[in-house]
Amino acid sequence: MKTKLCLLFGGKSAEHEVSLQTAKAVIKALDLTKFDIDPVFITKEGEWRKGAALTEPVEDVKQLQFEAQAEVSPAEGLVPAQEASYDIVFPLLHGPNGEDGTVQGLLEVLNVPYVGNGVLASSAGMDKVIMKNLFRDAGLPQVGYTSFIRSAWEKDKEASYVKTEKEIGYPCFIKPANLGSSVGISKCTNRAELEAGFEEAFQFDRKIVIEEGVKAREIELGVIGNDFPEVSVPGEIVAKKDFYDYKSKYVDGDSVMIIPAELPDGMAEKLQEMAKTAFQTVDCSGLVRADFFVTENDEIYINEINTMPGFTPYSMFPLLWENTGVPYAELIEKLVQFGMERYEDKQ
Ligand code: ATP
Ligand code: MG
Ligand code: MG
Ligand code: MG
Repeated sequence: MKTKLCLLFGGKSAEHEVSLQTAKAVIKALDLTKFDIDPVFITKEGEWRKGAALTEPVEDVKQLQFEAQAEVSPAEGLVPAQEASYDIVFPLLHGPNGEDGTVQGLLEVLNVPYVGNGVLASSAGMDKVIMKNLFRDAGLPQVGYTSFIRSAWEKDKEASYVKTEKEIGYPCFIKPANLGSSVGISKCTNRAELEAGFEEAFQFDRKIVIEEGVKAREIELGVIGNDFPEVSVPGEIVAKKDFYDYKSKYVDGDSVMIIPAELPDGMAEKLQEMAKTAFQTVDCSGLVRADFFVTENDEIYINEINTMPGFTPYSMFPLLWENTGVPYAELIEKLVQFGMERYEDKQ
């Protein structure tokens, strides 16, 4: 029997375009002898549109002509219609209103199975401050960090800058607390850049995090599973720019991925152990990409986890699994399986 898969994509977040790329790739890769696809598109404005069920291959999500479809409410979009009911939802959404537990909460209330992380892991993983606090409690090494909320900063900007310079210093990275794909992130090496960085990050969130900047290699690992997670080989990102910003991720494509990463003896195992700890610390399920920094002296710091990592066939997460012996289409099938298992486990 075929699995009916509801693909949820697009979304209101600044990562809308990335989600479209992912949906396009997943639709192309899915074996339509095993799956029927029920696409649900969320516009940038946050309107939900349900497409016709897909039983034939399409080249592009644009062909699904969502713009012509009538708007439905989120619940209408997800409540299985009688004739086209689905077995499981795959939220292919990045960033706020998708990767952050909100859609997951809606799916919980509707009592439908879904792929990936639950409410708690999604929201804790999306908020870099909460995530870092959890990692700290778990004893995972991290760079120094501090955070501010917009209202406190607006009250006394100078005090926020002085505190940051005292506690974090330069170079530092300023990030919106709840985002991804490097949107709104600045590297700052002086006061002028710091002030501009605060302004920029606060455009995307009411909370920001500021971290000590490290000069380090960037190593990422994939984790999949539920109670018994498996970890991929490590991969390295070599950004051609100053850092791995939005443009180098999705526009220029001028970063290089080296999989598996060449690491000193024993380090891959150590990173795998830490990735697993990060997954379990945030109570993840389904999938996570764990991002690390490795310094010249072989010091390891965890940077973050992503509960819905970039998922096109050219993204790090699927490539890590491909190099670990799990090709793209099989990876999707495994994730669907883990989603079903998690749903049954909860009943
Ligand atoms: P994504 O979810 O797409 O991985 P993100 O928006 O969550 O991205 P981060 O991964 O935290 O952002 O940071 C983006 C990039 O900025 C990193 O890959 C790295 O190149 C650089 N960077 C972030 N924090 C630091 C830091 N503390 N020191 C040095 N470089 C950093
Ligand atoms: Mg991230
Ligand atoms: Mg992300
Ligand atoms: Mg990252």
